[in-house]
Amino acid sequence: MPAQNRELSGSAKEWLDVLEYALQTDMQQLYRKCQELFQEAAEENSDELMGLGYYYLAMYYMENSEADQVMASLMEGIKYYPEAGMFEYMARAYNLMGVVAESQDNFILALEYYYTCMSYSETYHMTYIMAMVESNTANILCSMEEMTKATELLESAVKHYKEAEETPYTRWNLMLCSIELGHCYLMQKQFREAEGEEQKLDALLKDCKLSRFPQIAVHSYKAEISYYRGDVQAALGYTDKVMEDIRSGASVIEHTDSLERMAGLLLVMEKYELLLRMQEAIREKMQDTENLFLKAKWYLNCITCYDKLGREEEYIANCRSFFELYKEYSDNGMQTALKAIELRDKLNKIQQRQSDMLALNAELRVTSKHDAMTGMANRTYLNEYIEQCFENAVQEQKNFGVELMDIDYFKLYNDYYGHLQGDDCIEKVARVLKSMENDKIFCARYGGDEFMIIYYDMSREEIRDTAMKIKEAIWRLRIPHEKNRESRLVTVSQGILCRVPEKNSRVWDYALKADRLLYRVKNQGRNGILIEERL
Ligand code: GH3
Ligand code: MG
Repeated sequence: MPAQNRELSGSAKEWLDVLEYALQTDMQQLYRKCQELFQEAAEENSDELMGLGYYYLAMYYMENSEADQVMASLMEGIKYYPEAGMFEYMARAYNLMGVVAESQDNFILALEYYYTCMSYSETYHMTYIMAMVESNTANILCSMEEMTKATELLESAVKHYKEAEETPYTRWNLMLCSIELGHCYLMQKQFREAEGEEQKLDALLKDCKLSRFPQIAVHSYKAEISYYRGDVQAALGYTDKVMEDIRSGASVIEHTDSLERMAGLLLVMEKYELLLRMQEAIREKMQDTENLFLKAKWYLNCITCYDKLGREEEYIANCRSFFELYKEYSDNGMQTALKAIELRDKLNKIQQRQSDMLALNAELRVTSKHDAMTGMANRTYLNEYIEQCFENAVQEQKNFGVELMDIDYFKLYNDYYGHLQGDDCIEKVARVLKSMENDKIFCARYGGDEFMIIYYDMSREEIRDTAMKIKEAIWRLRIPHEKNRESRLVTVSQGILCRVPEKNSRVWDYALKADRLLYRVKNQGRNGILIEERL
């Protein structure tokens, strides 16, 4: 069974608000807040706060387009998430790593990260993240022309966005899904379906309260579908709009896919001058991009245009630039491949460490519930069990019994036979108790030579019989006890309270009463059983 996804603690939630606000308003503030958070996390030794800090640090680097730093922060983050039960962040981290890998044209690695994110999203039923990663994956498959698979994923993404709780980005994301889907349908010559998506897009735009919408993507798709509909005039109209969007500062980098499709459309329409102008406008907005793949596409588009227009000089100049870029690209490709191998190696190590830790945790959980000496349930486990069992008894109105059992004159036993033999005696008594356990009888070491037994849904007579059986079984062990003057063998005293609990009664009042009964047995000469139904 996988570990549980835990909700964030109160202090993590407070930090989350602070970080989200900084993310939306002021990036430098976000950076400072992350540093403050790391400090607090270190002071409190909190995996949860550490993990949260690294996620937002990654977001900060993401905004600054520092891909290596994004990766490094996420890699740090995922060391903390499983321990802190933050599987939502685990999934988000893999999704972001996919986005980074994709931006570096490392599609194989990106797909690997996306699929990892999907499996976390599925295991922990995180529909919103599932939707995001499905649409990200679909975009890659779409650019690889795997249209059928891409369509399937996009349809599923739409379904998941609708199922998930609505966020400020839901509408935006649904628009992008419709656009992608529409494009996939067009490529598969399913025109009616493509128009269906256009209608959905229009509906989303119509009652759109957003001041922003993914203009470039929307207008590119409109241009594309208008052309396929045979309305060249409308297609050109939308092309102008895309041009305006670029010039008025809409995010070019977010919509490179749409722009590339737009370029393809202009080539088909033989609008070479227009395409050259568009390439120029894009280039101005993205002068310092390091994305060689993107640059290569610009050159290729321009080369085609200059060739068609017979502008030889520019054609040759662009071919030369393209060739130089190609050299840089292949060197860089090697670097990227090496980096991918290094990252994968790092990730494998982290995953190994995580599974070791989960195994260790499971082991710790078992030992932390049991007493090391006797292997019986300890106080921690007892507390957990008794509360639950008592609540059931209250709900179901079942008889509930608490017994406290204590070895008689055990201090004297220790003094006379030594501590080691004392341990041995406790273990033997514990074994008797363990042999009595079943789904209605639970035994725990309460401390020292004292044990607690919980009886669930057993009548007073059944409880008394069981207590008698325990007494006899211990007697039959025939452990010599010279200092137990009455019997010369090890004996026990037992105090039991049993009754059907009232709605507002508290379990520890029952334990207290059992303790008083035990005390009375001790005072009356030990080696006896007192069972009562009155609190
Ligand atoms: P009473 O009949 O009134 O219960 O007398 P008692 O001597 O048994 O008194 P009490 O229950 O208070 O003493 C418990 C003793 O058990 C005290 C402590 O030295 C001993 N003890 C507690 N834990 C252990 C243990 O793990 N091993 C051993 N050998 N002795 C223990
Ligand atoms: Mg005792």
